[in-house]
Amino acid sequence: MKRIEEFAELIQQKSVEQVIFDLDSTLYTSQIGIETQVMESIRKTTARLLGIDISEALMLLKKYRLAYEMSFVGLERHHQLDRVTFLNEVFRDIDISRIPTYVGLPEVMKKAAASADVYLATNSNHEHAHRVLRHLGIMDTIMPERIFSCDDMGFVRKPNPKAVELMAKKFKLSDFSRVLFIDDSYASIKVFDNIGAHTILVADDFSSERVRQKVQNEEIPEGTAVTYDIVSCLNRLFI
Ligand SMILES: [Mg+2]
Repeated sequence: MKRIEEFAELIQQKSVEQVIFDLDSTLYTSQIGIETQVMESIRKTTARLLGIDISEALMLLKKYRLAYEMSFVGLERHHQLDRVTFLNEVFRDIDISRIPTYVGLPEVMKKAAASADVYLATNSNHEHAHRVLRHLGIMDTIMPERIFSCDDMGFVRKPNPKAVELMAKKFKLSDFSRVLFIDDSYASIKVFDNIGAHTILVADDFSSERVRQKVQNEEIPEGTAVTYDIVSCLNRLFI
């Protein structure tokens, strides 16, 4: 396992110049359970738009996920639901007003933007990403063209390597040894570690069972550091 200070040195030496952040449960606590809200909203939106009940929607989404890997594909193919409109509806229902903001995050994100090229790679859509960044007070630290959302991934999601490939293309990233990737998902961290990026896994008391177990059993990739406090981690990274 790596130490945060080792990455800080790489940033100071300009060996690492690109920092990619995940958004949900990385730049704010996972306690709020946005991912769960999104899953619930997908079911409710499907039910509402197709005029069926929640349990039918659940079965349909599962069926399409098995058949096409992504349920959106089935909804488009068999029900003429446009995926952009669908996701806008899904995210419109998400209540972000209860997201607690970390003290010191805007200040340290400014330092990050001054020391490296800062990117955002999120599985949510652009609208949600912009709303949350504004809520967290860090909208001015990430340029809009450096935000990569599921709209840009053709709705493929991290940790699917295809999503990473599309992101690398959009951001013109070729040398991942110059990239630091920060995410709360163990699976996403693994994918970026495999392609040679430096990685930081963000954990907290409310992290998924999988992350907590991996950290507890020290099953962390060699090139990965772990943090329980993103603000203090960033303050150590960007001096
Ligand atoms: Mg996340």
